[in-house]
Amino acid sequence: MHIFAIANQKGGVGKTTTSVNLAAALAQAGKRVLLVDLDPQGNATMGCGIEKRGLTRSVYQLLVGLKPLSEVRQTSPAAAFDVLPANRDLAGAEVELVNLDLREMRLKGALHEHRYDYDFVLIDCPPSLSMLTLNGLCAAHGVIIPMQCEYYALEGLSDLVNTIKKVHANLNRDLKIIGLLRVMFDPRSTLSNQVSAQLVEHFGDKVFKTLVPRNVRLAEAPSYGIPGVLFDKNAKGAQAYLAFAQEMIERVKTWEQEREKAAS
Ligand code: ADP
Ligand code: MG
Repeated sequence: MHIFAIANQKGGVGKTTTSVNLAAALAQAGKRVLLVDLDPQGNATMGCGIEKRGLTRSVYQLLVGLKPLSEVRQTSPAAAFDVLPANRDLAGAEVELVNLDLREMRLKGALHEHRYDYDFVLIDCPPSLSMLTLNGLCAAHGVIIPMQCEYYALEGLSDLVNTIKKVHANLNRDLKIIGLLRVMFDPRSTLSNQVSAQLVEHFGDKVFKTLVPRNVRLAEAPSYGIPGVLFDKNAKGAQAYLAFAQEMIERVKTWEQEREKAAS
């Protein structure tokens, strides 16, 4: 089981779009996928076709220890993967977790019990470096960072990179940056291309090859509760996320081969 947190403390940079579409694309490739919505806004939940209002069982109950994962997960009505849904209740977890033992490790513990159920777990983090995001980073093997190629993109990145370093040093030795995904990309914009080149210069092959263009079909899909890759699979945005899923599958295959080599 490979666990990836999709994180960036900025809002509106494409975390949820990336989480939902990568989950759907991996599921379509035959992988067993669990999507964890760690954002009280519940956008990933809604984007998978699950109504967030009136949820009786959600990630909130899981994190505070009221329900086990098996009672919280639902299968997305729109696609062949499971979801741990969230809504505004989750905002309360932030406060309640402060008083609980191993408060950063709640999600990690829950996922560990189900480590044979899934090939991929994707965690859609909230736009903050809060206790919720910390739970995501502690549970994960790696971080996928979606970002827009705009002027302040690199500046915001250093806070996130520092947080990831701290978590790696103190709480989760497994954690690494898997890669940066350029999203809402406009190939005609000089600035986009400049920032993109800077990213590659700084981060080298940590920048994913796949570029996700700005594409209105990806933005329309959530209002139908259908992942973009299924809503209009021929749209440029959907094609990009399908390619990104293949890129992730290839990366994981390479690690597994390296690990086997190292072990033999
Ligand atoms: P975050 O989870 O980081 O806040 P979202 O994934 O919710 O970001 O994206 C923010 C907004 O941008 C949403 O309205 C979403 O539909 C839109 N969006 C995301 N990616 C794209 C894209 N590649 N093309 C067009 N719109 C996009
Ligand atoms: Mg989001």
